[in-house]
Amino acid sequence: MNANTPTRLAGTIASLRSNWSGRCVLCLARGAHHGLCADCRSDLPRLPAECCPVCALPSPGNATCGACATTAPSYDAVRAAAPYQFPIDALVSALKYGERLALAPILGRLLADHIAWESAPDVIVPMPLAPLRMRTRGFNQAHELALVLPRRWLDRIAPTALERRRDTAPQASLPVPERSANVRDAFLARRRFDGLDVVIVDDVMTTGATLHEAAAALKRAGAVRVRGWILARTLLRE
Ligand SMILES: [Zn+2]
Ligand SMILES: [Zn+2]
Repeated sequence: MNANTPTRLAGTIASLRSNWSGRCVLCLARGAHHGLCADCRSDLPRLPAECCPVCALPSPGNATCGACATTAPSYDAVRAAAPYQFPIDALVSALKYGERLALAPILGRLLADHIAWESAPDVIVPMPLAPLRMRTRGFNQAHELALVLPRRWLDRIAPTALERRRDTAPQASLPVPERSANVRDAFLARRRFDGLDVVIVDDVMTTGATLHEAAAALKRAGAVRVRGWILARTLLRE
């Protein structure tokens, strides 16, 4: 945390209460570009430059990490725009739990900038919410983030192609060892993906258990490659 943190936290909290159009959502400075001023944008936390190409956790020389080499997950590659740290975590919480939908384009822009040079996917699948959560929240934050991806790909977004069948407990509410069991077989593809290169968009990746199960369902439906494009990655080893 730098010396500006209290000001920024105040800004974040203030941004929960009101729309500050043209102002930075973190420090409330005027003249923000896509919701963040230049100083706050350059101060955002960054992931280590070298990371595992499969799971996006730090790995010297961008080598596939031991965990992914030993037990390959069903997803093939993950790109994450930022670590799940302040102030990204506060903004994600405000989006999801504070219903600050105005934050979606700001956070989505961070992800879009990060994956701008990735190869084009055939289909983009926002990580689906469980039916009950979708009803209570009223929007899927992963879908809102996907809508900010490069315009040339927007017609590839398939928001209902993958179904989350069970109302599983929120992953964040469970200890890490219980997260895999919680999401096992929770996903069902509602169409075929034969031969397709699919991207799953999600806001946060922690253990990777949810992404693993979602990618497995897509591969059972014929997908040949599944990548994860994630806004914020928790730097945590299981
Ligand atoms: Zn700022
Ligand atoms: Zn890895």
